[in-house]
Amino acid sequence: MKPTATIIGGSMAGLFAANALTQKGWDVSIHEKVPVPLSGRGAGIATYDDLAEFVFKATNNNNVLGTTARSRVSLDLDGNINASYDYPQIYTSWQYLFSVLRDNIDDRNYCMGDDCVDIKQVNDKAIAVFDCGKEKKSDLIIIANGIKSELRSYVDNTANPRYAGYVGWRGVVNENQLSAKSLEILSNYFIVVLPYNQQIASYPIAGEGKDPFKKGNRRINWIWYKPASDKDLKSLLLGKSGEQYNDGIPPNEIRMDIVQDLYEEANSKLPPQLKELVEKTNQPLIQPIFDLESQRMRNNRVLTIGDAAFTARPHVGMGVTKAAKDAFTLSEHLDHNNYLENLNNWENSRLSEGKFIVNRSRYLGKYLCSLTENDSLQMPNVIDVLKDTAISLNDINSNINNYGALNG
Ligand SMILES: Cc1cc2nc3c(=O)[nH]c(=O)nc-3n(C[C@H](O)[C@H](O)[C@H](O)COP(=O)(O)OP(=O)(O)OC[C@H]3O[C@@H](n4cnc5c(N)ncnc54)[C@H](O)[C@@H]3O)c2cc1C
Repeated sequence: MKPTATIIGGSMAGLFAANALTQKGWDVSIHEKVPVPLSGRGAGIATYDDLAEFVFKATNNNNVLGTTARSRVSLDLDGNINASYDYPQIYTSWQYLFSVLRDNIDDRNYCMGDDCVDIKQVNDKAIAVFDCGKEKKSDLIIIANGIKSELRSYVDNTANPRYAGYVGWRGVVNENQLSAKSLEILSNYFIVVLPYNQQIASYPIAGEGKDPFKKGNRRINWIWYKPASDKDLKSLLLGKSGEQYNDGIPPNEIRMDIVQDLYEEANSKLPPQLKELVEKTNQPLIQPIFDLESQRMRNNRVLTIGDAAFTARPHVGMGVTKAAKDAFTLSEHLDHNNYLENLNNWENSRLSEGKFIVNRSRYLGKYLCSLTENDSLQMPNVIDVLKDTAISLNDINSNINNYGALNG
C-alpha cells in the first residue's frame, strides 16, 4: 500500500508538497478551508531560476513564468534614473503560479471547505480533525496553512507572528491606463525609491486577460513601505464601518481619508512616474508586515512547511521559492523506509535556511520601522537596496555586501 499524507492548506506550499509527494509515489490529499477556488490578492511574485526549476519539477511546465524587467533602477524626484544595477528578472503573479500548480492536481484530491481544527497522533498514524467532524488518518500530516496557523502550536507552541513596525501599501495598475511617458520607465525596470524612513518598489507583472505577458496587456505592481507604530496601525485598520481590524483589513473597508493622505504624500515624496502609479490605483491595499520564526518544524508525524513555519518580510521575495524548497527537500527525505528518522535531517536543514531568510528580511527592513524620538536612522545606500532586494539564495552567497550581511 502507498504511504499517505494529509496536507492542510491548498495554497503554494500545499500545492508544491502535493505535487512533490505524488511524484514519490505517496497518496496525498489537500484540505483547504476556503470553500471556493482561491484567488490572488493581486500582487506580484519575483521568480528565480530555482523557482522555475521547482515549477518544472512539480508540473512539467517549462513555459516562462512571467514578464521580464531588464534591470533595476532608482529615480530622482524629477523622474530621472540616478542609480542602476543590472539584474534582469522574471516577475509573475500569484494567480498565474497558483493555476499552473493547481491544474496538476486531481480535483478528487483537493478538498475545498475543509477547515482543519485539530491534530492527534495515535500509534503509528496522524489524524487530522475537521470542523465538520470528519477525521482523516494518514502516515504524515503536513501543515501548510500560512502565517496565521493555529495548528502550528502542535509542532512549536513558541512561534508567533511578530509585527515589524511598518506596513506595505500595495496596488496594481494596468499598463494601458498609464501615460506613455511613465510607462517607458515603469514597464521596463524594477524600480526602488527611498523616501526618508520609507521604500517604494515597482515592477511589471502578468496581466489578467489574453496574452498576459504582452507589453500593454501587463500590469505594474507597486508596494510602498511606510512606518506605522502600534497606534498608527490601529488607526489604519479602523474600517469605514467602524469595525476595528487587527492584522489586516478588507480593501473595501479602507477609509477614504487615509487613501487621500497617501495620494497627497505621493505628490510630495515620489517621482512623477510612481506618483501616477499610486494615484491611478483604484483600490490600494494595506498589508501590515509580520514575520515569523519557528524553532521546530516537526512533531513526529506532523510537519510544518511554507509560511506556517517561517514567514519572511517581503524584501527577500522568498515566500513561494522557500515553500517549494520545503516541499521538494521533504520529498527527497521520504525516499527511505525509515523516513521518520530521516526527517530530523530535513528539519535541521530547513530550520537553518528558514532562520537565515527571516533574519535577512529583518535586516533589510529594519530602517522602515516607526522611530521613537531618541532613534537615529541610518538610511541604506540605494545601490545596496537594488542589489539585495528579492535576489536568489544562490546570488546572496556570491553577492553579499555590508548592508545585506547578517550582522544586524
Ligand atoms: C489567496 C492568496 C493570495 C496570495 N497572493 C499573494 C500575492 O499576490 N503576492 C504575494 O507575494 N504573496 C501572496 N500570497 C502569499 C504567498 O502565496 C505565500 O507567502 C507563500 O506562497 C507561502 O504560501 P503558503 O502556502 O505557505 O501560505 P498561504 O499562501 O498563506 O496559504 C495558506 C492556506 O491555508 C489555508 N488554511 C488556513 N487555515 C486552514 C485550516 N485550518 N484548514 C485548512 N486550510 C487552512 C488558507 O486558506 C490558505 O489557502 C497569497 C496567499 C493566498 C492564500
